[in-house]
Amino acid sequence: MNNKELGKKIARLKEKVLYPPNRNRNCVYCEKEFYAHNLNQISCNRKCYHSYYNERKRGRKDLEKLTMQLKAEEEAMEELKRSLNTRENILRKNIEILDHLTIDPLTGTCFDAQSLNELGIDFTEFDFREKVSKSDDSFELIMGSYRLALLNDNEICIKNNSI
Ligand SMILES: [Zn+2]
Repeated sequence: MNNKELGKKIARLKEKVLYPPNRNRNCVYCEKEFYAHNLNQISCNRKCYHSYYNERKRGRKDLEKLTMQLKAEEEAMEELKRSLNTRENILRKNIEILDHLTIDPLTGTCFDAQSLNELGIDFTEFDFREKVSKSDDSFELIMGSYRLALLNDNEICIKNNSI
């Protein structure tokens, strides 16, 4: 021990003599008053000491378990949200249905709107909508690589741009 350390130790001892910590304490577990023979003593006896630490440990474990449960519930909620009919999911489903149709690669193929509806295509969800020409009111729906021209209420002509 060098002089500096010794000096510090003496200063600490002096401080303890000048300001003696209260040895009459209340047990952290049973709250009964006791006299602390050791300055680090926080409980009236060993039994209380062990009970206190075991309960703290159990408390932490319970908290960990609860946190895990909450996290699992959050993940389940996220999964549910993903599985619901979000805009992206509807559009993806539309494209999946279109992928199964036989479409002429050059001219495209026309289908009646009713049967496309029955297949499950939701025409309210698309990437964007374009007017076919300035002169008339017909427009095309773009879903992925597909262009769906709404010729009239009953007929929809589909072209696949990726081919
Ligand atoms: Zn106690």
